[in-house]
Amino acid sequence: MSSRTIVLSSRNRKKTQEVREILGAVGFTVIPVTDFPDVPDVEEDGQTFAQNAAKKASQVAQHLNRWVIGEDSGLMVDALNGAPGIYSARYSGAGATDEKNNAKLIADLAGVAEDKRGAGYICSVALSNPAGDIRIACEGTCRGRILSEANGTGGFGYDPYFLIPEYHLTFGQLSSVVKHRLSHRARAFSKFIPLLQNICHEF
Ligand code: IMP
Repeated sequence: MSSRTIVLSSRNRKKTQEVREILGAVGFTVIPVTDFPDVPDVEEDGQTFAQNAAKKASQVAQHLNRWVIGEDSGLMVDALNGAPGIYSARYSGAGATDEKNNAKLIADLAGVAEDKRGAGYICSVALSNPAGDIRIACEGTCRGRILSEANGTGGFGYDPYFLIPEYHLTFGQLSSVVKHRLSHRARAFSKFIPLLQNICHEF
């Protein structure tokens, strides 16, 4: 493997595309874990985003005997005591989809005043070596507010409801260029990339 090619342990197609764009801009090629059909699913049973990111990275790294990035992210809503949090992808239960998760979020926030709808996205990123040791771990956050109606079709997940107050637009409305400057994922990777550049000669 060339020293600038790395596997991403995520089965979320849109998230993988974002990571591909962020790392592609600094010359890294991202291979999704879905290119390796024999890799088993990783059970996300950690108590934190960081634990889940580390587990995704190290299990897949050991299975493939390659360097692997794990990424775990989600939305924490102030008025819901931090929910959906690490359960963001499966907030609406078995068979969850972005649409069902958004419907539950909006129902849970019914009647909550605009100025009490603050929320933050969190992104944890971990890099594992082929032996399963975590060599880099970084986190990024992005604050916003949850609207009661969807705006825009860009991004994924909760983005059409996630307002960036400074722009008066949601992540569903803002271009990917802007999201890649402001988002929790962009911020986590802006810490991660210089550290990755320092050790990629070991790949
Ligand atoms: P994970 O794949 O287990 O890390 O779960 C990520 C979930 O968090 C997604 O399915 C979304 O519900 C939510 N999420 C994380 N990042 C974003 C984002 O950038 N936009 C919208 N939703 C996000």
